[in-house]
Amino acid sequence: MKEIILIKLGEIVLKGLNRKSFEDTLIKSIKRRLSGVGRFDIRYAQSTIRVEPLDDDTDMDEAVECVSRIFGIAAFARACVTDKDIGSIKTAAAEYLRDTLEGVNTFKVEAKRSDKSFAMQSPEICREVGGFLHDTYPHLTVDVHEPDVTVTVEIRDFGAYIRAGLIRGAGGIPVGTGGKACVLISGGIDSPVASYMMAKRGLELTAVHFASPPYTSELAEQKVVQLLERVARYSGRIKMFTVPFTEIQNEIRDKCIEDYFTIIMRRFMMEIAEIIAGQNDCQALITGESLGQVASQTIGAIACTDSACNMPVFRPLIGMDKEEIITVSRKIDTFDISIQPYEDCCTVFTPKHPKTKPALNKVLEEQNKLDCRRLVEDAVKNVRVTMIY
Ligand code: ATP
Ligand code: MG
Repeated sequence: MKEIILIKLGEIVLKGLNRKSFEDTLIKSIKRRLSGVGRFDIRYAQSTIRVEPLDDDTDMDEAVECVSRIFGIAAFARACVTDKDIGSIKTAAAEYLRDTLEGVNTFKVEAKRSDKSFAMQSPEICREVGGFLHDTYPHLTVDVHEPDVTVTVEIRDFGAYIRAGLIRGAGGIPVGTGGKACVLISGGIDSPVASYMMAKRGLELTAVHFASPPYTSELAEQKVVQLLERVARYSGRIKMFTVPFTEIQNEIRDKCIEDYFTIIMRRFMMEIAEIIAGQNDCQALITGESLGQVASQTIGAIACTDSACNMPVFRPLIGMDKEEIITVSRKIDTFDISIQPYEDCCTVFTPKHPKTKPALNKVLEEQNKLDCRRLVEDAVKNVRVTMIY
């Protein structure tokens, strides 16, 4: 039996005049993301996107999983396609929905007829199909108000679609419709979650990771790649830049007062990320900071970090507790990778008494002991690029 996926659009139906470009972006990303699963015919009509596999051996479970992670989709369903005659519709419904119907007690049938030339009216279709399902599965009773399952029959131009209820989609808005931003990604729990949350708001992602070999290992960087691969299941491909950070950290350690290490390091990160972001058409930075989580995330510390760059900095986790962040990281399957114990460059030189209320003039005085311009230029010049899919 031929199976397809029907996709219902989400928030984008609210977007008025932009609607068309939102729809186009969504369809493009569905096409791109499903190209890794198989060959599909993807069409849009009457607020529904229909995804039809072109080969019989297409893995539809994988296709459904892929679709469930695409932002801009409110809901979707697997459906079977059959000829537009009532006999085929009845037998197809009974066969295709067997597992579902055997597992419930009450049902109702709903019919939608967008092909008005079809000989039967909707109430008649419901009666016929409902009666047949009831005969086939006698344990079922009809409940039109709160059924365990609603069987939907849609009579369309190309054929009839039969499906049980809708599955909730990833929500959000299509990636790319909001522009592009650059996430500062560490190997921790927070920044992958921040990446996911901003992709959900329609941003395409670029990523910057600071590595300090030999203080940080190759494995630590591999961990970041793995995290971004998980994020990319939602955001689509991500270009990742690995920035050599060792010299900057060594210089800070050798020349600045210890209490300011972290804040100065974070200012360098923002400045370098902003340059890379600019070179890659990004209009904002993203970090995984959460207010008060650590000394470098107090209001005062964030003010000092913020003043190192001009782009807007999105901090989607700013008001979230660690527990709430962990819930999301489990949902997107990054948690188990994040908790693997590899060192991050932030943890290599941690001051014993970090300043929680740093004065910007004092921070600048310390930072200006370094040849900042050359350090930044060198770091940017020596980035490495990895494409993440
Ligand atoms: P995370 O769990 O994301 O590592 P964190 O709670 O450990 O965050 P910090 O180490 O203070 O917090 O880092 C705050 C933010 O700075 C991170 O969320 C991330 O956006 C950025 N950041 C930290 N380390 C790096 C790094 N090595 N490369 C790129 N960005 C980093
Ligand atoms: Mg960290």
